[in-house]
Amino acid sequence: ASGSKNRGKSPGFMTFDDIGGQDSAKKELVEALDFLIKHEEIKKFGIRPLKGILLTGPPGTGKTLLAKASAHYTNSVFMSASGSEFVEMYVGVGASRIRDLFKEARSRAEKEKKDSAIIFIDEIDVIGGKRDGGQQREYDQTLNQLLTEMDGMHTSQSPRILIVGATNRKEMLDSALLRPGRFDRHIQVDLPDKKGRLHILNIHAKNKPLAENVNLDRIAQEAFQFSGAQLESLMNEAAIYAMRDSLDLIQQSHLSRAVDKVLMGEKTDRESTM
Ligand code: ATP
Repeated sequence: ASGSKNRGKSPGFMTFDDIGGQDSAKKELVEALDFLIKHEEIKKFGIRPLKGILLTGPPGTGKTLLAKASAHYTNSVFMSASGSEFVEMYVGVGASRIRDLFKEARSRAEKEKKDSAIIFIDEIDVIGGKRDGGQQREYDQTLNQLLTEMDGMHTSQSPRILIVGATNRKEMLDSALLRPGRFDRHIQVDLPDKKGRLHILNIHAKNKPLAENVNLDRIAQEAFQFSGAQLESLMNEAAIYAMRDSLDLIQQSHLSRAVDKVLMGEKTDRESTM
């Protein structure tokens, strides 16, 4: 979702508390990230270092946010890229971009005096998708370069690097990426349940003037199967309705209308792609 526009920037203080719902994803992620932090113990026990975590789940559920919060939690440099950036007409350009990404992560960590870096690759299926017959694989330099970089990473190396990949289509990934020592931790980031939706609504209501009698619990109920991104959009639309009505506070009716608006938007998007 964030693509290259965040490349090189700090995570902007995204913490796990800024992410609504996703309790089990957060818990699993923190457990995995502790491997990055407790690297001395890991070495002592001869445990293989964690190199890659794969976040899987529908769009807009907070995978990018989780990756940013991971960087904050581990005090790592955060770098991000999207698989679609590596699709190039010219052979070798994608591979050299991967090399640059790792190089930049290392130099930024050194400059910022951090001993770890997290490289987030959104839409990783674009570079790591299965190929028919498997023969083209060896010519796929972008994926090969990523695997080479990952295979070359060691606990003793400074900075330690962790790759967080995200995909909506895990079943599309080439098995080479999923082998032990590569992306061997998979964390499912699902659509939020009602409690999660309420939590997300509350997060996005923080900077918005809500009327006192607003019942967000009811909106969480109405927003069945909404993603975090849709809930953010819902709160924003509701604020726009309130402003258009020249009111100071957002009313329940604005929120209900916003639920419909987001639903309608989805429907129009789907129809236009049909
Ligand atoms: P994609 O698969 O499309 O890349 P994603 O899973 O990476 O999506 P994000 O980019 O993390 O989704 O989320 C998009 C926006 O939606 C966030 O910037 C945030 O405003 C909102 N959002 C999504 N999930 C959550 C959440 N769990 N808590 C709070 N806000 C959320």
